[in-house]
Amino acid sequence: MISGPQFPLPVNEPEVHFGQGTKAAAALSEALEQRDVVEIPTVIGGKRYFSNDVVEVRAPHDTQRLLARIHRPTQAQIAEAIASSAAVAKDWASLTHASRATILHRAAEIVATRSRIRINAATMLGQSKTIDQAEPDSACELIDFLRFNAYNAQRVYAEQPMSVPTAVNRADWRPLEGFIYAVSPFNFTAIGANLTTAPAIMGNTVLWKPSEKSALANYVFFEALEEAGLPPGVINFVPGDAELTTRVAMSSPDLAGIHFTGSSSVFQSLWKGVASKVDSFRTIPRLVGETGGKDFVLAHASANASEVAIALIRGAFEYQGQKCSAASRAYVPRSLWTAVSQELRDRLATLKVGDVADPTTFMGAVISQASHQKLSRALEAAKDDPAVQVVAGGKTWSEPGYFVEPTVLQVSDPKHALMKEELFGPVLSVFVYEDNAWQETLELIDATSPYALTGSIFSTDRFALHEAERVLINAAGNLYLNDKPTGAMIGQQPFGGGRASGTNDKAGSYLNLLRWASPRVVKETYLPPRDWQFGA
Ligand code: NAD
Repeated sequence: MISGPQFPLPVNEPEVHFGQGTKAAAALSEALEQRDVVEIPTVIGGKRYFSNDVVEVRAPHDTQRLLARIHRPTQAQIAEAIASSAAVAKDWASLTHASRATILHRAAEIVATRSRIRINAATMLGQSKTIDQAEPDSACELIDFLRFNAYNAQRVYAEQPMSVPTAVNRADWRPLEGFIYAVSPFNFTAIGANLTTAPAIMGNTVLWKPSEKSALANYVFFEALEEAGLPPGVINFVPGDAELTTRVAMSSPDLAGIHFTGSSSVFQSLWKGVASKVDSFRTIPRLVGETGGKDFVLAHASANASEVAIALIRGAFEYQGQKCSAASRAYVPRSLWTAVSQELRDRLATLKVGDVADPTTFMGAVISQASHQKLSRALEAAKDDPAVQVVAGGKTWSEPGYFVEPTVLQVSDPKHALMKEELFGPVLSVFVYEDNAWQETLELIDATSPYALTGSIFSTDRFALHEAERVLINAAGNLYLNDKPTGAMIGQQPFGGGRASGTNDKAGSYLNLLRWASPRVVKETYLPPRDWQFGA
């Protein structure tokens, strides 16, 4: 019998510091200067396919700079990817957990060491992140996902039913019957690693459709998986057209699950697509989606104004507000607003927006022309809207890239669209409430937006914190007390929200892994009865 090792509880990967004069900073700057254009293939069963159907990847903060060309698969190749994973599925499922976990740990080591600079540089250039935003994502969180998924799978496998003196019971933690369609968003390189390896560690095969906007960094991770020894076909890298890839995936009776992160509307369309043909699948597909947010920061009159202002700046504007958890609506009491708004204005005036390679830059560009146009339109409309006052920022420009100033808008109507809808950019809307309207404000926060992803409450009054936590019980899947609403760490704050924000399956935790297993329970009786009578 092959014995399995016990993998210890991982610790979160520490950040490497890229301060001026360090070796890390020199290596990073060399990688950022690299001008080669990367040809990103479709990878099926370990074979690379290049095509004429090519999408260019350019740096959002420098749109003249061509970084890569994505070679999209044909319809037939997407179908071939599904067939190739079926061919390896049995062998992959029959490996021990230790074998699969070792591959994930090897990939984590590769990213932690020789691929670290490359994946950070790809994330900085392709997704316009500063190193302060890339390192915690494409290195640390990605590595944590791999190590914690390996560890948490071990916890799932250890979960067994009770046995009794007359019979032994056990759960076979089988993978799902079929393949998992993993569809990842642009904003965190780490998420692509989780959407694929969480099902894979549980013995599933995966069809991975990355976002075109993050495909460069996602491909660096895929290469690390290959180097770590992931058998060909277990995860196929299929950077195809979203609708075509989805159509082919859904036309297969072997679609066993969808692991999605992205906007609520796309997840809802995937859900409807599956529902409309649910009888065509061999097994009812598991649907796991972590989606949009309209994340709140609530300040109580007892809060410290500076702490609130800093949480708003970091929560709303890091990575240009393009985190699902970004603060995008704030509720500040009248008694604190003068101090908070002054500090916001003063500090935002000093924040640098520009090239992510410059270590003094705080914000790069937003991800695409479409996002830039949407944000520019929203800011123009806000300037003409009598219910809105521009507190800070408001400008956009498109040379040399898609830039938007960090913007704070004060609204007089707490139900204004700016307090409800996800804009996914550096725009924070604030409603100033009267100090004596605390209870009404709690109800207002709960009822204003369809989302329920993250939120934070600032107060030094313990009763106020307790009351807010209780009234806002369903308003956020990740709630922060006296902290900004972003920056969840794997193992510390399992992440996900309810309502329109998704299925809340808590990425990076064992709860998520349970969705990728279909346990078979086996009972074996030691002495089967030889008479039908009770007590015989
Ligand atoms: P998106 O929904 O535009 O794209 C996500 C993925 O879906 C991409 O791979 C895209 O190509 C694909 N896609 C787009 N249209 C599709 C279609 N019709 N059928 C199938 N696939 C389709 O999202 P995005 O812009 O990449 O990411 C931003 C969104 O993701 C925001 O709404 C953000 O809040 C959300 N997000 C949520 C979390 C979370 O954990 N809750 C984390 C990160 C991002």
